[in-house]
Amino acid sequence: MRFDIMTLFPELVESVLGESIIGRARKNGYISVYSHNIRDYTKNKHRKVDDAPYGGGKGMLMATQPIYDCYKAVKEMQGNLFGKVIYVSPRGRLFNQDVAREFASLECLTILCGHYEGVDQRVIDEIADEEISIGDYVLTGGELPACIIVDAVSRLIDGVLPEEECYEDESIACGLLEYPQYTRPPVFNGKEVPEVLLSGHHENVKKWRLEKSLELTKERRPDLYEAYIKSQKK
Ligand code: SAM
Repeated sequence: MRFDIMTLFPELVESVLGESIIGRARKNGYISVYSHNIRDYTKNKHRKVDDAPYGGGKGMLMATQPIYDCYKAVKEMQGNLFGKVIYVSPRGRLFNQDVAREFASLECLTILCGHYEGVDQRVIDEIADEEISIGDYVLTGGELPACIIVDAVSRLIDGVLPEEECYEDESIACGLLEYPQYTRPPVFNGKEVPEVLLSGHHENVKKWRLEKSLELTKERRPDLYEAYIKSQKK
């Protein structure tokens, strides 16, 4: 899968998506991520990309021309790939694991990152299929939301996670929150690892983990718990 991120701060995106599992997945060719500097497309002789909002108000807005020209260049690079363009914004549809799954079925995803007070509405209307929010809070820019989306979607692409890591039984993905996990040493500050995990009895371990998942989900996320119980009755 191919990701194209349109941003004023490509270094910020690269510093996050060049490391660890996602960095390796890129090097190994399971995904590709291209950051495009919107400023490279401005026709302003001072390389300006923003302007004051019509009607007054605080701050600056990202202007239409550099974004639109950047978008056209990205489209050309993507060729016939089947994809979507999203603008990350606190006004958007809330991102979650279902949305991540939906995006993982695309061949490419283009993400427009806003900054300052946001983006001129006309260019959003022109290029974006939809707006996506990563939560009910406001960040200074769309770069971190873009990285979060690329990370969550990439984990669902074959080959990205190492063999031993499986996303299917993780929190949320399986419908429940994950059970508590432990590693060596067997005793830490007087706290012991639950005996069943040392027993080597796989059926009992499985049963204990499901019980703990159900307990935790019921306590912390009753909404997920209800949905899970309903799905089990079908
Ligand atoms: N004035 C805008 C508003 O009230 O909706 C907020 C602008 S915010 C300071 C700058 C940029 O950060 C936005 O254009 C958007 O791209 C990004 N951003 C901020 N919070 C976000 C969130 N919760 N989800 C996705 N993107 C966000």
